[in-house]
Amino acid sequence: MTDPHAPVRRGIVPPYLLEQLAAAGMPTASTVAERTLGLDRGIRAERQATPVPRAGLRPEAPARIPGEPAPHRVVSDAQGATTLPGTQVRAEGEPPTGDTAADQAYDGLGAAWRLLLEAFGRDSLDGAGLPLLATVHYGEDYANAFWDGTRMVFGDGDGEVFAGFTSAIDVIGHELGHGVISSTADLVYRDQPGALNESIADVLGSLVKQHSLGQSAEEADWLIGSGVFTPQVQGEALRSMAAPGTAYDDPALGKDPQPAHMRDFVVTRDDLGGVHINSGIPNKAFHLVATAIGGHAWEAPGLIWMDALTGGLPATADFATFAAATEAAAAARYGDDSREAAAVREAWSAVGVTERPAADAHAQEAVRVARTGGMLGRTRAAVLELEVIPGDDRERLDTLVASGTLEDLGARTLPDAPLWRVTVETRCDVTVAEPLLPEEVLALFRRLLELGDEPPAT
Ligand SMILES: [Zn+2]
Repeated sequence: MTDPHAPVRRGIVPPYLLEQLAAAGMPTASTVAERTLGLDRGIRAERQATPVPRAGLRPEAPARIPGEPAPHRVVSDAQGATTLPGTQVRAEGEPPTGDTAADQAYDGLGAAWRLLLEAFGRDSLDGAGLPLLATVHYGEDYANAFWDGTRMVFGDGDGEVFAGFTSAIDVIGHELGHGVISSTADLVYRDQPGALNESIADVLGSLVKQHSLGQSAEEADWLIGSGVFTPQVQGEALRSMAAPGTAYDDPALGKDPQPAHMRDFVVTRDDLGGVHINSGIPNKAFHLVATAIGGHAWEAPGLIWMDALTGGLPATADFATFAAATEAAAAARYGDDSREAAAVREAWSAVGVTERPAADAHAQEAVRVARTGGMLGRTRAAVLELEVIPGDDRERLDTLVASGTLEDLGARTLPDAPLWRVTVETRCDVTVAEPLLPEEVLALFRRLLELGDEPPAT
């Protein structure tokens, strides 16, 4: 049984996927998935007993060489056991071992380190040269890869569904991304902050791959875990940032459950509130920003995301808080009127995290009244200066706004009813269903609409 209250190890393969697989009755993969889940829980219990000190990311670190920043990688081999770290097989600067997993892990750690330094001026995960440690061949056919707070640990996969994890440098980048996050905003690993944590790890993972291949946003595949599935699986990766929800659709694995828009946000108690599921929404926002700006995604888009992450973001930040942080970061770095800032605003609005910036576009307008919906679905809107509104009606409007009645009514929804959106300077921006409006208020809005009717939106 899964204990829903136990903290979950941040493996790249989410528990719901392993559970699905365990129940699928496949000769090898189901047994392996069951064993992997069991191991994850065991390690969870062990880690609860001896918690990893948060500030003490530094494990048995080799001595740092002062001077130029350089990576400090150490790869160990667990040889199929579950004892960490295992036997050291390759340290920084040593030649390839000939073992594919060990050498891929070494190269992947290097690619992640280079992205952090070259794109973000950050020396390793903590910005202070933290050694990068990895253990390969962990467990017997262990079908996961994870960051345990101090090192990257890779299983070999089951050979039936999972081919192994060291070949996917975006998976390595994702796991190390968790290390960057834990040494900066340290986002709570649950609900929206948890999904944000997952998403930023995906962003960093994909950027590691794009940076190492020199790809532009248009050339990138935007997949996380491309190559971790065997060819038998109907799916190309664990997740797709460009098209969340489309990464796999397989009889044994089920369908990729990620939403790409807030209207499809998954409310669940599983997966710590859907941390691996709802991450699709901010993932899509980053993809939209990167493709709107164009060029290398680790440049402006990556810098904006890193500025937001490292600029005092609270550990409990939800999507909207992070959206505001990225908008502020884009404005600070490129200017409020820059296309970078516009791309960020547009992306969060497109995924439904922020409302369309209609109020911004009409900032200089004193009063805007718009009616949408109804039989024809037509929008009528009026934009008015306060001065053109007759004195009586101006007074009625002021009283109405000050009373808070509209806010109260706006909190209720009625399916399919015509809607009135009323903006009064910066004092009020409320959308109310027409049938909820008192008769005299509706009459007032109708008079305002007549006063300054603008052509219907096309
Ligand atoms: Zn993760």
